[in-house]
This record gives sequence, structure tokens and C-alpha cells, in this order.
Amino acid sequence: VGVTPRARHRSAAWLAAALAPVAAASVAPAFAAGNPPVLEAALHYFTRGDTPRIVEAFDSTYPAPVTPAERERVLATLPLEGDIPDAELGGAQRRKLAASRRVLELHGREAVYALKVIEVPQAAVALHGRAVLLISKPALELLEGEELQALVAHEVAHECFWSDYFRARREGDRQRLRTLELLCDGLAIVTLRRVGIDPARLTSALEKLLRYNRERLGVALNENDYPEISERRRFVKRLAEWLPGAEVSSAAASGR
Ligand SMILES: [Zn+2]
Repeated sequence: VGVTPRARHRSAAWLAAALAPVAAASVAPAFAAGNPPVLEAALHYFTRGDTPRIVEAFDSTYPAPVTPAERERVLATLPLEGDIPDAELGGAQRRKLAASRRVLELHGREAVYALKVIEVPQAAVALHGRAVLLISKPALELLEGEELQALVAHEVAHECFWSDYFRARREGDRQRLRTLELLCDGLAIVTLRRVGIDPARLTSALEKLLRYNRERLGVALNENDYPEISERRRFVKRLAEWLPGAEVSSAAASGR
């Protein structure tokens, strides 16, 4: 496509910066134990309300999507190279992307987000500027369709806490960052319930990414900003038990 290796390399590095930075394996591991107040605070966010109303209540948690002008502005900040065109993807990979678009439809984001599969070493899914969903090639290969849907649901949920998240990052407030991650996990589970996907797909997806990245790249520099995987598993289990049974929307049931 007329991209010099150097340009491709540079843009890949630029995109990688939007994802988790990684360090050598010698970096000290994250906190050994989960933090109960973080888990309980996140759980309370959901359980403070009425169970039957929860799905409708959390619909209104999502902000309006970015405007077309803002979307264009964000897209203009991306390099032209570095993403893998659809034509270079296999059938299985395209099916996974199509499945994740169904999650976006639930939140009215299917025409808002640009989906970009990018060539970076780590397995990651990230939302950039509330308008670009970055899915790394290793993540697309590693995850099953429902697992990718679970992570996409998590990324959309970040929109609910967008400025909060960046404030916590600026202030180095790790407890808040971890709580926000759990809140996004929780909202993702509510979304998954609506499309009839087992919440355990979220934790299996997170485990796959973590294992892949640790084996190849070592412990992430910002690993302490994330809850321990065991804590996320406990949180997902407890919230899933509390939530009302699968409320499968007609769109999801018909496999639209
Ligand atoms: Zn997150």
C-alpha cells in the first residue's frame, strides 16, 4: 500500500502509545491482594438500586455519542497507516468484528465508532477519543467472538466515566482507576445480559489478554492501575448473581 517500513513502524508505535505501555518482566508485580473497598464500592454502584429497573437505569448512564464533527477531529489525529484493512482479515476475524458491531448497536455507537484493527505487539482493545475502537491483531486472533463482544461492551462503558478516568490518571489515583475499571466491567455485564452472553466471557477475555501480554512483553507499567484479575472475577461473579436473569432483547434474539 505504498507504506515504507519506517512509516509503518512509526505509526504502529504511535498507536501502541494509546494502548497499555509495557515494561520488562523484572518490574515488580501488581499488589498481591485485591482491595475489598474497591470491589465493594463498585458493587454498591450497581446494587444500591432496584434490581428490576437496572437495565433501563443503566441505559441512561451512557452519554450521547460524540458529534460527527468531534468524530472527524479524532479521526484526523490518527496516522494514515498502521491499521489493517478489512480486506486483509480472514473470515473468522471479520465475523468477530461483525459480532462486536452488534454490541455497539445496543448503545447507538455502530455508526459512531471507527473500528480499527492495528498491528501492535500487545493483545489489547481500547477506545480512543470516544470515537475509535482500536483492536490489536493479536487480540482479534486470540479472542472468541463473544469475548471480543464482552471487551467492546467494557470499552463503550468507559464513555460513562470518561473525564473521571482521565482525572484519576492525572492525579495518580489508583484506587479510583481500579474502581472505574470494575464499574466498566459491571456495565459490560449488564450489556452482555441483554444480548444473552455469559458474563464469564468477560473474565475469560481479560485472562487471555493478560496471559498473552505477560508471556511476551512482561508486566505492564500501568498494571497497578487495574484491578487484579482475581478481583475482577469475584466482582463479575457477585454482580452476575445479583442481576436479574437474561433479558434478551428482540434484536439480539433474532441474531441481528
Ligand atoms: Zn477499561
